[in-house]
Amino acid sequence: MSDNRTELSQLGEFGLIDRIKSKFSITNGTTLVGIGDDAAIIDAGEQAVLVSTDMLLEGIHFDLSYMPLQHLGYKSVAVNVSDIAAMNGKPEQIVISLAISNRFSVEAIDALFEGIQMACKNYKVDLVGGDTSSSTSGLIISITVLGRAPKEQIVKRGGAKTNDIICVTGDLGAAYMGLQVLEREKQVFLTNPEMQPDLEKYEYLVGRQLRPEARMDIIHELRDRNCLPTSMIDISDGLASELFHLGKHSNLGVKIFEDKVPIDHSTYETAIEFKLDPITCALHGGEDYELLFTIHPSDYDKIKNHPDIHFIGHMHKDPDQHVLITKQQTEVPIQAQGWNHFKGQS
Ligand code: ADP
Ligand code: MG
Repeated sequence: MSDNRTELSQLGEFGLIDRIKSKFSITNGTTLVGIGDDAAIIDAGEQAVLVSTDMLLEGIHFDLSYMPLQHLGYKSVAVNVSDIAAMNGKPEQIVISLAISNRFSVEAIDALFEGIQMACKNYKVDLVGGDTSSSTSGLIISITVLGRAPKEQIVKRGGAKTNDIICVTGDLGAAYMGLQVLEREKQVFLTNPEMQPDLEKYEYLVGRQLRPEARMDIIHELRDRNCLPTSMIDISDGLASELFHLGKHSNLGVKIFEDKVPIDHSTYETAIEFKLDPITCALHGGEDYELLFTIHPSDYDKIKNHPDIHFIGHMHKDPDQHVLITKQQTEVPIQAQGWNHFKGQS
């Protein structure tokens, strides 16, 4: 019997999701898109409803020794809103399920909800329900978000065409470097509690890790400029992994240029300080919650002067070509691996 055991690590997170998906078929005509995109798409007349869920677990996704509860509340909403943004939709409602231990005081839970409230206000979403349970193993926050979009404006992971321009917002790798800084300061504190953490120099990076924003601003600006992306995804697992998803869903390859990948100078300098390669941090560091999308080349003029949109490459006709052109003009394959939860990373 035990001969049949397959380790989860053999399958990986994406393999497991594909396996689950293969066992279920869609039976309702209102289910337009099920498992596989940033959000499911449900028919609701002229518009569609978008549904997505994300769970944050203590010890896996956050460490309360450096994550203030207010920020955690904000982040847990922002990461959900980000998936609605990635569909070019408008977030409208959230439901929140919480598992809490009696280690938390009422004031601590108040702080968590202050952050949630701030995010609800910022993204204009209503908290409409949830569930509350006790926990014996740390704090768990699971949020489901509902959004809406006119059907013809929904942007999926698939849909890119050969030579479409690959665009990325903001900058990448900062949230990952913020995490490295926080982890280092935690270790310093554990060995010498008298030492005060020195975070001022890393304020931007730490902020990107603790309090990310969903890029709804970009969604509105693209709409104002009448620019509809051909495919889109949010960057939660790292650029390389998200490029892989866009390529797979569009049945194309990707070609990106190292010198075009946006990396903030503090990310760059801190990566060097940590003896890490900045481009590796940008490619594989997760949790930036920026948007990665493709546009038809004829739309380039509409957004070419946008200060926060970067053009990093183009879609390639060969689905097996996932390459990075380095600053030295050499072509290296991009490894598709995101964070693999089953190998102990998050
Ligand atoms: P994202 O990073 O955008 O949150 P994920 O990588 O978590 O997306 O999930 C990819 C797709 O797989 C989504 O459509 C999600 O709804 C679906 N999915 C993830 N886990 C499960 C699960 N346990 N059961 C069913 N669908 C899942
Ligand atoms: Mg996503």
